[in-house]
Amino acid sequence: ATSYVGFDSITQQIEHKLLKRGFQFNVIVVGQTGLGKSTLINTIFASHLIDSKGRREADEPVRQTTEIQTVSHVITENGVRLRLNIVDTPGYGDQVNNENCWDPIVKYIKDQHSAYLRKELTAMRDRYIQDTRIHCCLYFINPTGHSLRPIDQIVMKKLSEVVNVVPVIAKSDSLTLEEREAFKQKIRAELFHHSIRLYPFDTDENDEEEVQLNESIRNMIPFAVVGSERNVIIDGKSVRGRKNRWGVVNVEDETHCEFVSLRNFLTRTHLQDLIETTAQIHYEAFRSKQLLALKE
Ligand code: GDP
Ligand code: MG
Repeated sequence: ATSYVGFDSITQQIEHKLLKRGFQFNVIVVGQTGLGKSTLINTIFASHLIDSKGRREADEPVRQTTEIQTVSHVITENGVRLRLNIVDTPGYGDQVNNENCWDPIVKYIKDQHSAYLRKELTAMRDRYIQDTRIHCCLYFINPTGHSLRPIDQIVMKKLSEVVNVVPVIAKSDSLTLEEREAFKQKIRAELFHHSIRLYPFDTDENDEEEVQLNESIRNMIPFAVVGSERNVIIDGKSVRGRKNRWGVVNVEDETHCEFVSLRNFLTRTHLQDLIETTAQIHYEAFRSKQLLALKE
């Protein structure tokens, strides 16, 4: 007769260990100045984050991010602790000469890989290495409604070689729903045409459900988002939104924009996969290249 030895509790043992350690998620935001990067980040983690630089009042000039800055937050949900690092980059592509404007960003991402590798190679290495590798790059596209700018094509291509790139159409409240859909299709066609392979990637390990989930993400990318750091009153309820001359955009209303889809994607469905893909694909590529170089 078979007797129960209880190894099925290994899942609880793992869970206990992981919960104790907590999770780390690092996001970088990239795009032109003024596209709403800082605003969107504050909207996604709204109830959890406090703008470290203080909230901007209506008539203050637009705060500008002039260097790569990391803001760190610890957020907790039902006993699960997530340390969230948000790396805000200065808007690039604003200059007359945009040549190599992506270099500092690519360098920053590689530097994190390099730091991780160094710790891994240390003889007395820590059992747990603090992870600063970037798991997701939110790439902000100007809501022109026409097509990607050449600079966007170049930068997304460069970034996609080192990090999981997730494109978003910034300030999509400036487009009508028809314009928005046409723009999304145009961008997807251009990404395909220029062989820019973005996250999510399919692997042999994916089951049917995961393959379908990824397919639905690919059909939605780029997420058309709206951000806001203010609440507006809709039907007597206070919601995150923007008021303009024609009406109110409720950021969390899925008929208004794809903010909720992006947030679900980042936090509910793909958080772990973004982290794993970073380690297994992007970091691994960096690592094998470095180790090869060492041997020569
Ligand atoms: P960043 O330079 O990319 O970080 O941009 P900010 O987040 O500082 O935002 C620049 C300006 O755009 C601010 O006045 C925001 O209130 C405004 N803004 C941000 N998100 C949106 C949006 O989704 N729609 C509209 N219409 N304006 C936005
Ligand atoms: Mg900013």
